[in-house]
Amino acid sequence: MRALVVIERLADGVDELSLQALAFGRGLAGGPDVHALAVGEGGADLAPLLGAHGVSEVHVAEHEAFVSYAPPAVARAVVDLVERLSPGLVLAAGSDRGNEVLARAAAMVELPFAANCVDATTGDPLRVTRQRWGGSLLEEAELAGAPALLTVAPHVVAAAPVDGAEATVDTFTPTLSPDELAVRVVEHVRAEAAGVSLSDANVVVSGGRGTGSAEGFAVLEELAELLRGAVGCSRAVTMAGWRPHTDQVGQTGTKIAPDIYIACGISGATQHMAGCKGAKKILAINVDPEASIMASADYAVIGDLREVVPAVSAEIRKARGT
Ligand SMILES: Cc1cc2nc3c(=O)[nH]c(=O)nc-3n(C[C@H](O)[C@H](O)[C@H](O)COP(=O)(O)OP(=O)(O)OC[C@H]3O[C@@H](n4cnc5c(N)ncnc54)[C@H](O)[C@@H]3O)c2cc1C
Repeated sequence: MRALVVIERLADGVDELSLQALAFGRGLAGGPDVHALAVGEGGADLAPLLGAHGVSEVHVAEHEAFVSYAPPAVARAVVDLVERLSPGLVLAAGSDRGNEVLARAAAMVELPFAANCVDATTGDPLRVTRQRWGGSLLEEAELAGAPALLTVAPHVVAAAPVDGAEATVDTFTPTLSPDELAVRVVEHVRAEAAGVSLSDANVVVSGGRGTGSAEGFAVLEELAELLRGAVGCSRAVTMAGWRPHTDQVGQTGTKIAPDIYIACGISGATQHMAGCKGAKKILAINVDPEASIMASADYAVIGDLREVVPAVSAEIRKARGT
């Protein structure tokens, strides 16, 4: 079966979640007929990388609209390719952007769309298992019609290169109506950030309401720096204005999959766990042994984070002789 995968680009390559969607799509297509859509100038430069991940042909949509994120315009480019290539499957990453673009494309072709799939079986209809309610519920669904449009939940498959040959490149210009140019990003305001980003960090030291204040994060920042990690937080913290929303982990924040997630003064609400359940290990530091997070934690320290976290940092320094 032919698969078309919508790629999200980074300044220097391809977003990891798109490579995961490619691995998922490749498996589902069951063959080498895997196409990719990359919008914007320089998309052709991705041909070696995408080829290495099993893409046979990369379609580069060029238009001045693509200098920034323009979801209806990208959706139109997807629909143009659907009409030209007749794929059986159209996939994207289950990111905010991937879900938005495929939802719009599905509306344009009047077909159903399954977001955040964790598994799929080809057939007529295609059967999917997908995450609902931030991952706290798995839904079995059937997806009728062709092509089947779906996004792949983050971190359910690994991005796995297959050492394929460089993809061939097809460049095209979608015909965009004024309506399709109306929604686009006009300005980026960069959050002040230092060190490793929350979504890429192998170690995340995260704080909840139990930190008590913005100043209460100083001990977490110190530990994160020692472990070359990033600082995260719960929504209680962003609602209180102690940290920016870019630090929030959860259903309405960033979804992460670090090697270890150190949750300090976080109760473990479902909406929070939706963002960190991809962590390989969870260490909970909490005064309450009955806190819900204990059900998901691999390790726990029952105690006041204001004492426990500095003690951990001190031990690390001692062990390193610094
Ligand atoms: C639609 C929706 C979306 C949401 N999205 C998100 C989301 O993306 N991310 C998110 O986090 N939440 C989200 N929430 C909110 C979520 O339901 C919880 O309210 C929130 O996660 C609670 O944050 P918390 O654990 O920091 O606070 P609390 O639930 O108040 O927990 C504080 C914890 O700190 C412990 N504690 C207190 N003092 C100390 C101390 N000195 N040392 C150690 N432990 C201490 C307490 O025992 C407690 O377990 C969402 C809610 C809704 C309705």
